[in-house]
Amino acid sequence: MRFDIPRQRFYLAGQEIWINEFSIIFFALLFLMFLIVGASMLYGRIYCGFMCPQMIFSEVSLNLEKKLHTFISKHFRKWSPSVRRWAHHVAFYSLIWIGSVFVSFVFIAYFVEPRDLFWRLMSLDVVTAGGIAGAATTVVTFLDFAFVRTKFCTTICPYGYLQGMLGDDHTLIVHYRAEANECVECRKCVRVCPMGIDIRDSPYQMECVHCGECVDACTQIMDRFGKESLIHYTWGEKGELVGAGRIPLLRRIGLRDAKRVIVFAVIIIYASALAVALTLRHDVLVRIAPVRATLYRVGDDGRIYNTFRMTIANRGKEPATVGLSVRDLPDAVFTIPVDALTAPPGDEAKQEFEISVPAGQLSGGVTHFQVVAEAAPSGTRDEFDMTFITPMGERTQ
Ligand code: SF4
Ligand code: SF4
Repeated sequence: MRFDIPRQRFYLAGQEIWINEFSIIFFALLFLMFLIVGASMLYGRIYCGFMCPQMIFSEVSLNLEKKLHTFISKHFRKWSPSVRRWAHHVAFYSLIWIGSVFVSFVFIAYFVEPRDLFWRLMSLDVVTAGGIAGAATTVVTFLDFAFVRTKFCTTICPYGYLQGMLGDDHTLIVHYRAEANECVECRKCVRVCPMGIDIRDSPYQMECVHCGECVDACTQIMDRFGKESLIHYTWGEKGELVGAGRIPLLRRIGLRDAKRVIVFAVIIIYASALAVALTLRHDVLVRIAPVRATLYRVGDDGRIYNTFRMTIANRGKEPATVGLSVRDLPDAVFTIPVDALTAPPGDEAKQEFEISVPAGQLSGGVTHFQVVAEAAPSGTRDEFDMTFITPMGERTQ
């Protein structure tokens, strides 16, 4: 996946999508929007807990900090506490800086060609737009994963608040079963929580990203007593435990009411529309439009000329040649350079051309006809309804 901003192109899985391919972009955006709405309604903060890069890298950073601390304390006992603290800081921030360079490189490579970006990085370029963007992103990433981390989720990120609004009584949550009254107060669920909260207080805490770390922690503790975990994933506060007993398939995957089925159906509709739009897209897109700055021109040869503009957008990987012909306009002749009918791969060609008819061929006014464009080698064929204008009031002479 890559965005080519200067050329206004978007690359996805080998497909080159142009900014003017409105239907694909429209269906893709709506599909993504409903996917987010549907996922939040059914599965709560599944994105935050398992897919969000901010959460993933924050957890990596927190674990790295903890592991480095353990490693240095264990292997360098002879060092004084202040030296150990300094060693920990230097090692941690150095590793986070290296990671930030890597993460920023991957991020900027969505917009700048990766080999080009690599050489900019090697030459420590902070002059070009790509170099400045890379350096700025590295600094922001470093500050984020060294200091901000999960605070971002609870203070800046709007997605967490949005998900709170989209959930209802049947949305998947992480729930502590207080009624069992078997908690041994070990607080392991609190210690492992990357957000630093106690799930026993409420299943609806804004900070909870439903990562399930506390579920695993409590499972390990209660296993020792031969009992089940007190913390579970459940479908709402009063709903079934996930994985409990025999539940019909639709309920098991979260489709529990009409509202959910409708959202699911809308997702399928937009996904299908996107698939159809991608299937119907041609490598070569030809557009022809009349140029009406001058309605017509009478040539020295007495023929009547109308001007048209053609755009050939070649989204394929080979040069495309377009052949033009005319229907329902007798004795029409094109005035167009032959090389203007070829567009290089991944590029656009624009050309104005004229169509002429002999004087006296048409009655004055507007004549409807078609221009047929056939592209090679793709074989795409398009017909364009056009009008040809001749002087009014009399038959042209
Ligand atoms: S309370 Fe549990 S599920 Fe929620 S963020 Fe903390 S560990 Fe993850
Ligand atoms: S891990 Fe389980 S037993 Fe331990 S404090 Fe948390 S809820 Fe109670």
